[in-house]
Amino acid sequence: MDNSSPKIVAFLCTWCSYAGADLAGTGRNQYPPNIRVIRVPCSGRINPMYIIKALLEGADGVMVSGCHPGDCHYLVGNYFARRRFVVLKRLLTAAGFDADRVNFTWVSASEGARFADVVKEVTEKVLGCQTGNVRQGTVLCPASPVGSTTENRPLSYTSGKRDELYEQYLEVEDHLISICRKLLEDGTVNSVIGYQQEGGDMSLCVPCIIDSPEDVEKLVWYNRCVPNLSSYLLQRQGKTAIVAKPCDTRAILSLIKENQLKREDVYIIGHTCYGMVGNDGNMLQACSDCTVRVPPIYDTFDGIGRKTDAIQGDRPLDNPDNLLNETFERFVNEMNKCILCYSCRQSCYGCYCKTCFMDRGEPDWQTASPDIGAKMLYHLGRTTHLSGRCVECGACENACASGVNIRYLIQAVTKFIKDTYDYEAGMDLEKEPAMLTYKVDDEEIGFL
Ligand code: SF4
Ligand code: SF4
Repeated sequence: MDNSSPKIVAFLCTWCSYAGADLAGTGRNQYPPNIRVIRVPCSGRINPMYIIKALLEGADGVMVSGCHPGDCHYLVGNYFARRRFVVLKRLLTAAGFDADRVNFTWVSASEGARFADVVKEVTEKVLGCQTGNVRQGTVLCPASPVGSTTENRPLSYTSGKRDELYEQYLEVEDHLISICRKLLEDGTVNSVIGYQQEGGDMSLCVPCIIDSPEDVEKLVWYNRCVPNLSSYLLQRQGKTAIVAKPCDTRAILSLIKENQLKREDVYIIGHTCYGMVGNDGNMLQACSDCTVRVPPIYDTFDGIGRKTDAIQGDRPLDNPDNLLNETFERFVNEMNKCILCYSCRQSCYGCYCKTCFMDRGEPDWQTASPDIGAKMLYHLGRTTHLSGRCVECGACENACASGVNIRYLIQAVTKFIKDTYDYEAGMDLEKEPAMLTYKVDDEEIGFL
């Protein structure tokens, strides 16, 4: 940053703040010449991607200003915007950006003097920022080694020995097979999405689709049934049964809330889950963090220990080690490992757009070179899209062959949304998703 003259992009709503800026001019209210104004129809039309892109394209700071709550020309645009900005700011701070680089406020058309004061305040705040300055094409520090923080868990088995746990899984598996046979025979569903072993290898369970009662014996159920199966439902016609862990069920519920799926088209065979195991025999990190052991909804329940024995945890939502380390250096380290293969996007239930923002030509968010700015844009943009929608399944993390741990960003945002708006994705079919609604008295956390 040029310390004497930071560059600040200012998004101003045309009805209030832009008119306020005009009034500051005609009223001769002086303010620093650091802002570059972009006039927008409403603060509610400011895509958080604009703010992320501005920061990654070289802006030292961003300022967003709209009509005061209650004064929106479109009635409620700024109420929706308020939540979006509060959550975006939490995301940027989780990634280690200095909180003062993005500033949100309200200025009305009659507040010329206030507009000048706001620009002075924002300029001073941005001047004081030290972290989060990155330009496209910059590599800031070398990649850190991939480390495992998981511990051995008694539930793991890698050898395929028929121990007590294995016998328990077999019992549930038998029950699952008989349920699916019946569902297919009596025509309740026309197919079942579940898991089968790949090539007889017990350590590898892959998704399968069964549409005949004769094939139900292929189905398996044990602690290697890792993939989140919910997105396969989007490709099915007619009523389909699905073998669902709690996180799969939360994703199904979210897809129903987002009108991607009809409740009557899915038959949920819910399972208790005590955590899935990775190739190293350890419980997967997302499963260690997870405390939802029973599916929030189901049509048939078939869990180990049965429904009443399963304890729903206290929802810590995060690995405390992650939240203690929200530095820009950590973000850069993770970005340096990323090779932009998009496997995390492909594996996520929530990434169902026909054309991802990363693949669009209009607007062209991405640069031609896969540098660190491009990686940051992708991960911050994707996390923005998953805000209030992540069901903590860990599929993104499990899919990454480069060992990138970027799930800590969405964990931070998920926890923030739960604490602030009392909302967790996929836990309640009746609740409105946090980012699709607002309250008139929502707290303006981090606003000027
Ligand atoms: S962001 Fe990752 S953890 Fe969250 S729903 Fe998507 S794949 Fe699962
Ligand atoms: S799967 Fe890993 S390497 Fe691929 S884009 Fe996602 S974080 Fe980057």
